[in-house]
Amino acid sequence: MKSVLVCRETDPRETRVALIPDDIKKLTAMGFSFKVVRGAGTKSGFSDAAYEKAGAVLIDKEEQGYDSEIVLRILKPAGADGLKPDTLHLSYLDPFNEKALLKEFAQKGIQAVSLEMIPRTTLAQKMDVQSSQTSLAGYVAVVNAAARLPKILPMMVTPSGTINPARVFIIGVGVAGLQAIATAKRLGARVDAFDTRPVVEEQVKSLGASFVKIDLGEMGQTDQGYAKELTPEQIKKQQEAQAKVCERSNIVITTAKVFGRKAPRLIGKDVIDRMQPGSIIVDMAVSTGGNVEGSKLFEEVVTDNGVIIMSGDFLERQVPFDASKMLSGNFTAFLTHFYDKEAKEFKVNLEDEIMRGCLLTKGGKIIHDRFKEA
Ligand code: NAD
Repeated sequence: MKSVLVCRETDPRETRVALIPDDIKKLTAMGFSFKVVRGAGTKSGFSDAAYEKAGAVLIDKEEQGYDSEIVLRILKPAGADGLKPDTLHLSYLDPFNEKALLKEFAQKGIQAVSLEMIPRTTLAQKMDVQSSQTSLAGYVAVVNAAARLPKILPMMVTPSGTINPARVFIIGVGVAGLQAIATAKRLGARVDAFDTRPVVEEQVKSLGASFVKIDLGEMGQTDQGYAKELTPEQIKKQQEAQAKVCERSNIVITTAKVFGRKAPRLIGKDVIDRMQPGSIIVDMAVSTGGNVEGSKLFEEVVTDNGVIIMSGDFLERQVPFDASKMLSGNFTAFLTHFYDKEAKEFKVNLEDEIMRGCLLTKGGKIIHDRFKEA
């Protein structure tokens, strides 16, 4: 396998591209060949001419590339129509919710890789699309909130008076949360943070933020580093304990997710009602159920008491040049890792734990243990 199709994303909100010209040049030198749909990189700052110069063949329609052995795209497709059996298809697949799509991929004999399922091992880190994108999103969340806040973030001592630093509270300190803390600190805010995984406390402190201590009893993380789901009693306790921190914060950014499950509801209307007018909440879990009552995907909500709730999902789309560069690095690492240099062939190697972790369908079946029942 060495012929690759790079699709143009069809969702009008999507701004990123899966592979950038520099990486196409590198991979072409290794032996891959590329078809790229015209305009694929335009929104992220990569021109058709740059793709052509890098060695890709431009095509007008995605279907003209369906003779390729490997298909790269970012968002899950509507279906698998037109793809030939054995095609290796890489994209987000939302496999916990898209059972019909998985079935279709299996029935059409496609080999479908789900980017969400790339294992969290040291070796796979450079292929980890989730991390590369949410890290940028964490940065954008703070920048957006800061731009909307009727107050500056740093402390300022001037002859006209002293301005206290803004207070920022980050709930959920994974990849997005850590980058949000770092960004808010750089802008001069006073930052508090909380996460249910106890290992996070040290990381929070090393970034100069304060860790909010809440005793919820048994917490912890899975072997993949994800948070375990809390009981309803634990969530209630957390809501109560963090309410005071929310009330005194100018910006609250929530990133709390539980892999493969609905996000926990952590901030209710009762708490929002007690926040100051003009305060900002960014809900970065909005598309998986939302951490914040009243948050809406892609919409800004202003509550009766003047609190602004911003949608915090897909924020990496606001920095598509860097987001595409990082995504492209992830795809390139994946293609390179499974490329047999002597045979000059990409090989779907199921002996490799990375491939086993993320390849969901093959040979007409769903092969991944976690989704087999679908
Ligand atoms: P995520 O997107 O699943 O969740 C975001 C954060 O929300 C997590 O830190 C989680 O603990 C937290 N959370 C869940 N429920 C919560 C609650 N009720 N209250 C407060 N916080 C809550 O997680 P993520 O950002 O993808 O990363 C989780 C961990 O995995 C991080 O430590 C990260 O560094 C690690 N990681 C490792 C690798 C690797 O080794 N290859 C790759 C990526 C991430």
